[in-house]
Amino acid sequence: MKAYHMTGGDTIAAPATPPGEGGIGIVRISGPRALGIAERLFASPRGRRPESHRALYGHIVEPETGEPVDEVLLLYMKAPRTYTREDVVEVHCHGGMVPLSRVLSLALAQGARLAEPGEFTRRAFLAGRLDLCQAEAALDLIRAKTEAAGHLALSQLEGGLSGRVRELREMLLLAAAHLEASIDFPEEEMELASMEEMRRLMEAARDGAASLAGTFREGRLFRDGVKTAIVGRPNVGKSSLLNALLSRSRAIVAEMPGTTRDVIEEHLSIRGLPLLMMDTAGIRGARDMVEEEGVKRSLKALTDADLVLAVLDASVPLAPEDRLVLDRLSDRNAVLVLNKCDLPMAWEETLLGNDSFPPRVRTSAREGRGLEDLKDAIQRAALGSGAFRSDGVLVTTLRHKAALDGARRFIEAALDALASEPPEITAVELREAMDRLAEIGGEVTTEDVLERIFSEFCIGK
Ligand code: GDP
Repeated sequence: MKAYHMTGGDTIAAPATPPGEGGIGIVRISGPRALGIAERLFASPRGRRPESHRALYGHIVEPETGEPVDEVLLLYMKAPRTYTREDVVEVHCHGGMVPLSRVLSLALAQGARLAEPGEFTRRAFLAGRLDLCQAEAALDLIRAKTEAAGHLALSQLEGGLSGRVRELREMLLLAAAHLEASIDFPEEEMELASMEEMRRLMEAARDGAASLAGTFREGRLFRDGVKTAIVGRPNVGKSSLLNALLSRSRAIVAEMPGTTRDVIEEHLSIRGLPLLMMDTAGIRGARDMVEEEGVKRSLKALTDADLVLAVLDASVPLAPEDRLVLDRLSDRNAVLVLNKCDLPMAWEETLLGNDSFPPRVRTSAREGRGLEDLKDAIQRAALGSGAFRSDGVLVTTLRHKAALDGARRFIEAALDALASEPPEITAVELREAMDRLAEIGGEVTTEDVLERIFSEFCIGK
């Protein structure tokens, strides 16, 4: 296990901006020697010294020779009003690899250590500036690819989930306090009112934990996007539909830099729900293939999709390949799209049977008809039963869900014990339940868990 200290630890440095060319690039230094190191490397024109939370113009220079390395803004932030709660210096240099790596290596030569991935955020956590689920949210926010995902991460970063979990713990603490009283004064019969209050608190905490855990499916979909596959024969209009959805959804999210329309995955937002369209290159590439090959290719995307949009061409007779697609829809979250309904229908809808599953929508990608119905159907199929809350607190990671499920089980055990066992047993179960809840914010946690979470960060975060 590595040793991390809240204060008196070493001083770390890393680039805080991504590699590559940019207008500016930032080297961040955090730790007790941050200011000392910066002052050795920095020269201001009038010899001014850095003041906390003020930007100062000057140059980074080779300390031995005084040779200027880059023209910079220096931002010194004195502990504790900083991200890590330690002294922090940011050197805003010119973007690009050369200035950044020279400034960084000078800082390292002055005794800073290259930060490990996520170490700044880890220090913020260890110093109590963030709890663990807020630190996880910081990572989610950086990674968010849609507004909805960003919104969700921000609410968690600002303590939405932490606050809910704290409420649950407080209920259990109160229940435990009632219980302690009965353990300490066993000769006094516990008052009925106190007993009822205890049960009420425990039941409320149990239900709260269960309902929070129940938001996980939705939370995951909002965080990661609903993995969506559009499947169907070549030429039924899959890419036309995708384009219609893309151009009509006002909330299209920026495509990844450097990609074209032939990207493998594309993000779009439907009624606030982020959709991750899978294998869109495959969809577009399949057009010129033989039917069966094209269908096979589009079906491949179906394997780990959360949602399937199966497209049929309503203007030509159903083909055996359409059946291949239809056969794959049972037990999937699917929407059946009958496209090209601007043309005369070549077959009766009854051919598809009378099942209400999967829901059917008639569209014309060409004329932009049926798209609103399609969006409604997508939203319903992805989230089920109309439950839809893009605000509110959602649980987004399995780690949090597992902790909530664990807490709920211990509360149930505590409730059982309350009815039939000595109060000490109930107290033990309650303690366990509170520990499970404390795992979420990281008050109770192991080095492994921390390692796993922070190693996902990039260096410099
Ligand atoms: P994909 O191979 O399934 O992606 O199909 P495309 O989107 O490339 O469409 C195949 C052809 O069908 C193109 O010529 C489209 O213009 C045409 N098409 C797509 N959607 C419609 C529609 O709703 N109505 C009509 N009439 N034509 C359509």
